[in-house]
Amino acid sequence: MTPLLAATTLAIGYAALCWALPFGRCWRCKKTGSHPRLITRRLRTCRRCKGSGLRLRYGRRTYNFLARIHHDATTARTRNGASR
Ligand SMILES: [Zn+2]
Repeated sequence: MTPLLAATTLAIGYAALCWALPFGRCWRCKKTGSHPRLITRRLRTCRRCKGSGLRLRYGRRTYNFLARIHHDATTARTRNGASR
């Protein structure tokens, strides 16, 4: 397997993963939604995922960003700036 084929296979696999499962496990709280404070060890709501335990994958976030740019560039706007 050539390196280019391996990289292409990995990219297609990651794109399929981002399409099928857009949310991954929060690395900060490990899907519990809360984690202990550093000094007091009291459980607080996770700020990374806002307590949901899930985070949007980087590939999906990039896709959403590019899709929003494409939508904004191709959608007709009215005089006050709101899209139709
Ligand atoms: Zn979290």
